[in-house]
Amino acid sequence: MGLEGKRALVTGSTSGIGLAIARALHAEGAQVVLNGFGDEAEIAALCEELDAVHSAANLLDLAEIEAMMAEAGPLDILVNNAGMQFVSPVEDFPPEKWEAIIGLNLTAPFHTTRLAVPAMKQKGWGRIINTASAHSLTASPFKSAYNASKHGIAGFTKTIALELAQTGVTANCISPGYVWTSLIEGQIPDTMKARGLTREQVINDVLLAKQPTKKFVQPEEIGALAVFLCRQEAGNVTGANWSIDGGWTAE
Ligand code: NAD
Repeated sequence: MGLEGKRALVTGSTSGIGLAIARALHAEGAQVVLNGFGDEAEIAALCEELDAVHSAANLLDLAEIEAMMAEAGPLDILVNNAGMQFVSPVEDFPPEKWEAIIGLNLTAPFHTTRLAVPAMKQKGWGRIINTASAHSLTASPFKSAYNASKHGIAGFTKTIALELAQTGVTANCISPGYVWTSLIEGQIPDTMKARGLTREQVINDVLLAKQPTKKFVQPEEIGALAVFLCRQEAGNVTGANWSIDGGWTAE
């Protein structure tokens, strides 16, 4: 246990990677604020499991972000993790999907960060972790908005790391390769359509083809990395983009 007394907000933590990060932070003693959508009873069970509170804020709505940040109170740890994907050739890419992806993956972290930073600076301690992606370092076709948002969050993270370098507040990205979550499940049908492939071909020839290990990354592995970045020993780790991608971006 190393995060007792620390208050952490993890956006998009009702499923997938965010939930694994929330579980890992809770296991280290942090007090967790959950955020995200889902079944009410399941969210209530998660709150009980993690002794957490939940904000249902829609991060595409600035007023809801501001209300969530006010309710969460001064944070020690902010994990900007909520994200969405849409797969389509650029000429057919629905403009409203572009707006939503940039809004959730890039603009929402800007707002939560600007609202969290003053209290962190005042305490002289803080950890900002942004769930980016291997797609913050490299690209795949048909993911124009996602790749733009993830390259953007990587640049944003470096910028705030520099701004906060002498304040005790660090900012880093975690960049997973493919992790089996609802976000991946949801893009399979569109990828089948965009590339004219079967489901198995998408899994083996598109997704796992990228990862030299030929294995999906496990959400718990990302939770463990987030815990490391929150530790005292990681105080000099800032402005970094941590790949956890089975070797994808080494190629
Ligand atoms: P997921 O779909 O399991 O989780 C997404 C979370 O975001 C859920 O809690 C959902 O309720 C929440 N969310 C969605 N829209 C929201 C909104 N408007 N307001 C508030 N919350 C909202 O997906 P995941 O795979 O766990 O994705 C988490 C993050 O990891 C994303 O930023 C994603 O881009 C990134 N990522 C995922 C993978 C992967 O392979 N799964 C790889 C690299 C990066």
